[in-house]
Amino acid sequence: MAKLQSPRGTSDLLPEDMAGHRHVVDTAKIICLSFGYEEMATPIFEFTEVFARPLGETSDVVSKETYSFTDRGGEALTLRPEGTAGAVRALISAGLTQTLPQKFFYAGPMFRYERPQKGRMRQFHQIGVELMGVPGAVGDAEVIAMGHMVLSGLGVAEKCVLNINTLGDTESRQAYRQALVDYLSAYRGQLSEDSQRRLDLNPLRILDSKDEGDIALLGDAPRLDHFLNTASQQHFDSVRRYLDAAEIPAIINPRLVRGLDYYGHTTFEFITDALGAQGTVMAGGRYDGLAAMLGGGDVSGVGWAAGIERLAMLADVPSAPAVDVMMIGMSDDHMARLFPLAVSLRQEGMRVETGYAPQLGKQMKRADRIAARQVVILGDDEAARGVAILRSMADGEQTEIALTDLVAQLLAQHKGQ
Ligand code: ATP
Ligand code: MG
Repeated sequence: MAKLQSPRGTSDLLPEDMAGHRHVVDTAKIICLSFGYEEMATPIFEFTEVFARPLGETSDVVSKETYSFTDRGGEALTLRPEGTAGAVRALISAGLTQTLPQKFFYAGPMFRYERPQKGRMRQFHQIGVELMGVPGAVGDAEVIAMGHMVLSGLGVAEKCVLNINTLGDTESRQAYRQALVDYLSAYRGQLSEDSQRRLDLNPLRILDSKDEGDIALLGDAPRLDHFLNTASQQHFDSVRRYLDAAEIPAIINPRLVRGLDYYGHTTFEFITDALGAQGTVMAGGRYDGLAAMLGGGDVSGVGWAAGIERLAMLADVPSAPAVDVMMIGMSDDHMARLFPLAVSLRQEGMRVETGYAPQLGKQMKRADRIAARQVVILGDDEAARGVAILRSMADGEQTEIALTDLVAQLLAQHKGQ
């Protein structure tokens, strides 16, 4: 039988991976809490329609990447490909649109049927934030500043460049859309197949094309920033003023349109060149129309999501706390004698390992491998005298320690460290 693997594009989070994962989530969560964002979670599957309309039927995510299925009760469900639509759905379901603003932080798995590569998985994980009910530029600026602080907290801000753009309001976007279609229609035959399709369905997404021919054609295309109405221009100027005031460097990238339908006004991405092709670590924007698409009325929103795997690859993850002591009894009786002492030490916050079998050589090798600082050994000879051997793994030095005194002495030593 072939070696049993997890499904393509998924991976286990073994302890070493989990440490990176935890570090990202815990660091982000503390920073987001300091801005008043509280953790929440939505189900990992939703009714398919929760994603289909807001993200756009023609978006890459909905048209090619969702895991959708009909359950045994005949419901059309989709594993969530992202967190925003579900968070807004939750806001509406709970009637929280009457109590704004709402400020959410979340972390969890997302699912997209993609071609797996380094930093691109079918089950991956995101942290994200959503600020709902704040239409002003201060909201955009707050979530961007918070994202920047999360990257700083992880020690990766230096490796990332903030790109921002504005898609303007609906009126500005419609005017631009027409101008773009007029321009590109003359070159229809030269566009990539994907972009020819986009030209009819969602022309703005052509700006996001990775195709070199498309990029060349776009060189002389009309620019969105020339079509912004006054309100849209003012919103964007204000966001930039806030970022300047907070000394958060940003470059304006007029091609940053993002792949989902629900965005308007500000879009942004923190991009690194340290991860090869998968350079976007954190991405977001304003989505004032999303709640209405889900039947929740007029609720503005702005937020971001970041890939935990990509962040963990960039960050220096602190190593797990060292094992303070490993207890080895040379028989069941001796182990039973040490057993409650180990419990007492753990209750006082020490990290104590167990030697699971009375084989000294094997257990000492394990003590080395797990980098235990000290080992306690209890054999017949020691037990008869009411002592145990205490061995320091750093220098191999051994002393005897009275069993009655063992807990107090190890604790005193631990606290003195
Ligand atoms: P990309 O252009 O890399 O496909 P995206 O625009 O589809 O990204 P978003 O939907 O904005 O990504 O998701 C936000 C973040 O989640 C990304 O910046 C990235 O860090 C992470 N992410 C998205 N898709 C994946 C994936 N398949 N595997 C791992 N991380 C991902
Ligand atoms: Mg994608």
